[in-house]
Amino acid sequence: MSQAELADLFVGMGEPKFRAKQVYQWLWEKGVRSFEEMTNLSKTLREKLDQHFVINGIVADKIQHSVDGTIKSRFRLHDGHLVESVLIPVPAENRYTVCVSCQVGCSLTCTFCATGRMKRVRNLDAAEIYDQVVLVNQQSLEAYGHPLTNIVYMGMGEPLLAYNNVMDSIERITAPDGLNMSPRRITVSTAGIAKMIKKLADDEVRFNLALSLHAADDAKRNEIMPINEQNNLEALLESLTYFHRQTRNRISYEYIAFQNFNDSLEDAAQLAKLCRNFPVRINIIEYNPIDGAPFLKSTEHRIDDFAKYLRDQGIMVTVRRSRGRDIDAACGQLANKE
Ligand code: SF4
Repeated sequence: MSQAELADLFVGMGEPKFRAKQVYQWLWEKGVRSFEEMTNLSKTLREKLDQHFVINGIVADKIQHSVDGTIKSRFRLHDGHLVESVLIPVPAENRYTVCVSCQVGCSLTCTFCATGRMKRVRNLDAAEIYDQVVLVNQQSLEAYGHPLTNIVYMGMGEPLLAYNNVMDSIERITAPDGLNMSPRRITVSTAGIAKMIKKLADDEVRFNLALSLHAADDAKRNEIMPINEQNNLEALLESLTYFHRQTRNRISYEYIAFQNFNDSLEDAAQLAKLCRNFPVRINIIEYNPIDGAPFLKSTEHRIDDFAKYLRDQGIMVTVRRSRGRDIDAACGQLANKE
């Protein structure tokens, strides 16, 4: 419920309107999970709320700690479904990133992805996405004494197919009476849905956008990401150009390097051609192999050559070494176990 809806509710109950602000603060700023904890409300009111309302908070179901510091959480939703979030700390750079999920399962069937094998069950609501950030922020404070600095929507599900809920969650994360984080610290990652990228531009969003590219020609991309058949590279480039023109927000390409599939210098040359229309940063990601997928991770040597080729073309490139390999940290691996 919004704060205005809460205000109406309390007035209807014969309570002062400011109760709405108090409850809202408990829920969204302090992240409490029971009415009992709302200690500035009278005991009678707390009991009344408890009788008539529920707080559908998400609950940690399993937490795995990697030797490299990554912490993966599997959360149970109020209806029993499971989703994952990952805390990725980089203390040397003062960067503490959470990767959140936005759907239970996923309707896109990217061949390299464990989530793609689970059918999409439902979208997460805004509060369930927000809760992942709150709980992983607590983990970050407890484990590293540092709050989250970045949020990426790169976990289970396709954010642009859970559009309204994702937008609402970002609104709460960035709101002064929410977590008050800067939208510049948030990146939404899409497998590439051209018309929704244009919608982001028209909605004048202020967060960063990442395209999970993973292949720089249509034939290869069709092979690993069926969504490309309706949203080919030409359509995606056009929508990203529009997004850049309208918002000037940062765009990045995510590029998982698969051995002998997309990691040659010819692939790099094709990728460079997709970097001419707007400034773009490329994140080359080491593959976190999943059981039964037809891909292996590329070698360090090939990734270095690939990155060097792009850098020599004046393109900004970051290589992200795979994290949490000992803890099922690839998207969907942990939730898929049950
Ligand atoms: S990579 Fe993303 S879009 Fe593709 S199947 Fe996995 S969760 Fe869905």
